[in-house]
Amino acid sequence: MLIYIFIIGLCFGSFLNALVYRIHEKKSLWTRSACPNCQKEIIWYDNIPVFSFLFLKGKCRNCHNKISWQYPLVELALGILFLVPTLFISYPDLKILISLLVQWLIIFDLAFIFLYDYKYQEILDLSIWPLVIFLFDFNYFFEVFSIVNMLIAVAIGGGFFLLQYLISRGRWIGGGDIILGVLMGVILGWPNILLALFIAYILGGIVGVILLLLKKKQANSEIPFGTFLVIGTLVAMWWGNRIVEWYLGLIR
Ligand SMILES: [Zn+2]
Repeated sequence: MLIYIFIIGLCFGSFLNALVYRIHEKKSLWTRSACPNCQKEIIWYDNIPVFSFLFLKGKCRNCHNKISWQYPLVELALGILFLVPTLFISYPDLKILISLLVQWLIIFDLAFIFLYDYKYQEILDLSIWPLVIFLFDFNYFFEVFSIVNMLIAVAIGGGFFLLQYLISRGRWIGGGDIILGVLMGVILGWPNILLALFIAYILGGIVGVILLLLKKKQANSEIPFGTFLVIGTLVAMWWGNRIVEWYLGLIR
């Protein structure tokens, strides 16, 4: 069962790679995949997640142009991420099955935001508002969070970045971080939204220092902050309650 879920995750990773590329290039989603270098269509057995990359040694069969490491990495990441919510399941019933499907939807959408922001430094409305509307209704009907709880979390997530955006006139953060803050609010609710912001800033700081030490990047060049927000959201979604308990235990 777990292997089956892992393979489904790999396939969604493959789909995600194609989706991000095609949406950015404004290409049709319904054509066959082609090599970006020689434009030759990719045969199905060269399009198997991870394995084809290894078998072809990371090169196009036709033109031998290098295939980006992004492809197998994203596929593997989705395979692993799809497995994480199953760790929290003791016995499967209908309600848990539905929540599992919703978590996979959230994982896929957040992975899309991560990859798109990382590659193109942009967060698309398309990747935010449909899921915000869906989760707001879902969380209300299934009593995951109350409406007041979600409104507070949205006000914190969105308001926090809106304030920075207004103060810095868009120099510190992009407008995309504001709408991502809103999505984080409906995914996490109060108080986990605070934890996710906290994790994102710590992580961003650590990675920034490491890159400076390695002199990989100039101090003024930036990794899009949305990528750290996505990681903070996933960590807070899965381990938020445990982290808060652990922290409260420390200060008691
Ligand atoms: Zn090629």
